[in-house]
Amino acid sequence: MKFHVTTMGCQMNVGDGDWLTRSLKSEGFTPAPENEAEIFILFTCSVREKPEQKVASELGRIADRHGHNPNAFVAIGGCVAQQLGTALWRRFPMVRLVFGTDGIAAAPRALARLCREPGLRLSLLDFTETYPERDQTWPDDRLPPRAFVSIMQGCNNFCAYCIVPFVRGRQKSRNLDAVITECESLAARGVREVTLLGQNVNSYGRDDAGDGVSFARLLDAVAAVPGIERIRFTTSHPKDLSDDVIARFADLPKLCPSLHLPVQSGSDAVLKRMGRRYDVASYRTLVGKLRRARPDILLTTDFIVGFPGETDADFRQTLALVREVGFESGFSFMYCDRPGTASEHMEPKIAPELKSARLAELQTLLDAQLAASLAAQVGRRTIVLVEGPSRRDGPAGPSWRGRDPGGRIVNMALPGIADATGQLIRAHILQAKKHSLIGETEADHD
Ligand code: SAM
Ligand code: SF4
Repeated sequence: MKFHVTTMGCQMNVGDGDWLTRSLKSEGFTPAPENEAEIFILFTCSVREKPEQKVASELGRIADRHGHNPNAFVAIGGCVAQQLGTALWRRFPMVRLVFGTDGIAAAPRALARLCREPGLRLSLLDFTETYPERDQTWPDDRLPPRAFVSIMQGCNNFCAYCIVPFVRGRQKSRNLDAVITECESLAARGVREVTLLGQNVNSYGRDDAGDGVSFARLLDAVAAVPGIERIRFTTSHPKDLSDDVIARFADLPKLCPSLHLPVQSGSDAVLKRMGRRYDVASYRTLVGKLRRARPDILLTTDFIVGFPGETDADFRQTLALVREVGFESGFSFMYCDRPGTASEHMEPKIAPELKSARLAELQTLLDAQLAASLAAQVGRRTIVLVEGPSRRDGPAGPSWRGRDPGGRIVNMALPGIADATGQLIRAHILQAKKHSLIGETEADHD
């Protein structure tokens, strides 16, 4: 049968979607565009209100388009599935499978069973004690050069605003051997860059589920996998970023000089109410250490504006921190109440108009910093890992799209190369666009 995967939300969902696609292919299912598919798999997000509403509209849209087909059905994974569970069956009759993050390992078998037994509905919503290992027998297809590798599930931090610990359960680290086996298997299929994924990768190993290996040791082991040329990781909680991990930015050439280090706010008072357990001074200290370890490190972050009680002075401190740290870019969100979280009951709530005004001001500043950073790359030499053809051809014919070590997108023509996918190319940056760079091979330049 043909299936179509739609992914909303964070990179954990993207990683889960990629794994399920590989796994279903090895079970004989075929990935297809939405108009040809009969099984619709949705990875959902409930971290904020907007993505949660998107799930309902997506389900309505699928029902309108495919509801007439008696074989068509929907499987829902991710945070909304865990949160609403089998209530989704009642609201959306096309839904025949709901699975949480710990249930995904059993999803391929469940989908096969649903195809054989048309009257059946299934739910896979239990949390497990240990990391539920997933089948790794994939087809021998060549994979894209970049892949996500999950190293843990869940989170123990209970930041005041966050629903994740409720819908993804407590932290469970995966065993080192399983992570390395997956990296080797990906490298054998053409993967050159892995992004290690977890809600708080810096606390990898600090729970009862895994084998107790630290995140720094895991980085060493991944760097030793032949064929893997680049390593990234996300997400990092500042309170758990150890000196050992910072030292790896100096010691491991394969570890890319980029780090997503969500700060959320530049005000100590707000950080305290958020329950983040670091202050601005300690964040600043981390930035200093990172820059000493790797002067070219590119820092990105997350912000929440309009957290309950956020004053104008608090917000100005956030803007000041953005300028001081020189973040390359950041995801910024308006605070929204999530059910069951501590901040749901915190007052005073900030008026929606004020939240949007602050968001707009912050995004304008972040856009300006990104533009300045991209402009500063012009004239520099770098190495680009080519991911595939660019969306559009360049003036001189076909163009290829890849990333520099910092993660910036670089488009470039590569005359005479039939397929550059997966190659590491020495490049010279010619021009900065709004969100990307244009380069040429060093050979052209010399
Ligand atoms: N584990 C990561 C961390 O600690 O930074 C990220 C978790 S969350 C999936 C991604 C981002 O969503 C957070 O960094 C935060 O900025 C934002 N977020 C989470 N809950 C939110 C809420 N209730 N309202 C607005 N933004 C929220
Ligand atoms: Fe949510 Fe905080 Fe855990 Fe990140 S660390 S997932 S923000 S509770």
